[in-house]
Amino acid sequence: MKKLLTIHLMFFFFSSFLYSQDLQLVDGNFIKMDKCGFLPESESQVNPTENWGYSYDSLLTDLEIWRQNSYVKVDSIGLSVQGRPLWQLTITSDPNNIAGKRTVYIHARTHPQETEGFWVTKEIIKILLTENSFAQTVRENCVFYIVPMYNPDGVELGYPRRNANNVDLESNWFTFPNEPEVAGLKARFTELMASPNPIEVELNMHSSSLCKRYFVYHDSAGTSPQFAVMQQQFIERVRSYYPTGIEPWNYYVSWTGGNPMKYPESWFWYYHGESVMALTYEDMYQCAGTGNFDLTANAILRGVMDYLNIPTEVELSDNLIPSEFTLEQNYPNPFNPTTKIRYSIPNVGTGLALSTLKVYDILGNEVVTLVNEEKPAGYYEVEFNATELSSGVYFYRLQSDNFTQTKKMILMR
Ligand SMILES: [Zn+2]
Repeated sequence: MKKLLTIHLMFFFFSSFLYSQDLQLVDGNFIKMDKCGFLPESESQVNPTENWGYSYDSLLTDLEIWRQNSYVKVDSIGLSVQGRPLWQLTITSDPNNIAGKRTVYIHARTHPQETEGFWVTKEIIKILLTENSFAQTVRENCVFYIVPMYNPDGVELGYPRRNANNVDLESNWFTFPNEPEVAGLKARFTELMASPNPIEVELNMHSSSLCKRYFVYHDSAGTSPQFAVMQQQFIERVRSYYPTGIEPWNYYVSWTGGNPMKYPESWFWYYHGESVMALTYEDMYQCAGTGNFDLTANAILRGVMDYLNIPTEVELSDNLIPSEFTLEQNYPNPFNPTTKIRYSIPNVGTGLALSTLKVYDILGNEVVTLVNEEKPAGYYEVEFNATELSSGVYFYRLQSDNFTQTKKMILMR
């Protein structure tokens, strides 16, 4: 009986996955190509000498530097086809004691040519090893496992997308389970998911010829309605830290047909449902706008912390002075009993701007004043605790300089 149910479920998954075929909706048009925006003929290019600017030896050099750091432990999740270790960094406040830590997994360079996804990953490592309050909070609350080069043979052979056995490890996660790279990563995922610290976020780092920075958003036909909403919130949260750089969640809606376990992230969806935010991130592949890896890394890390509900200090960053007033939708929403409200104040030339942020009930009665002070230009975040209030609709209004904006939020107890 149990077997039959499994088969039925498989059928449901297969049929719903086949629904959108191999077509992807890009800027309103369906185009047949892979999720990194490459057409099949791009497989034939090789770059055997340059290794796209970061070789396996480059990684070994960086590993020597990283492993000096007391927050880092280096080990391998297995060997590649040609016997190269698949290096994994463990980064947390004490890598020998991960009790109670929230687990985030990141792997990069499945497709050797897509170095930009790796450069973002390298910036993430850099931020995680920085001595400041944000990084300290992250290290104290989380353990990050990072595989910076998942396909070292492909990198050394100059293959754009495949491993030494000529297999695209990205889209053949299920078809070629015995490729040593696939087997190694899958074994590590399986082990962690059965541990007291299961993976909660898994990011698969690539770069795309579409010259946009985006997360590959999958609609509910391929996952679930709940997961679709969670993805939207996650992507919008990351994006809120780099709004001019990262595309909104609905930019790239796709599900490529075929087997449900075709990709690493769909393996998570299939076996663990909504419990893991498993997504591919695509940076810009060799585009005019390529760069700002530090801003992207910062946005991803801060978005992940928000997703995990780990409070972090919001700091004014020199290269992130807002150009306009904004009042963002509170997060989470609906909420119970706390939620965060973020806003930004631009440099209006008059120095400090008197800012007030107040909450009103549905009848317009002021409930609480959250902010009432002169503030310099910057991005701000305030937590609203509604423990004393009853369920219902509330409004929050930001007034600063000549700017006023009001948004609605819902308290659900
Ligand atoms: Zn890719």
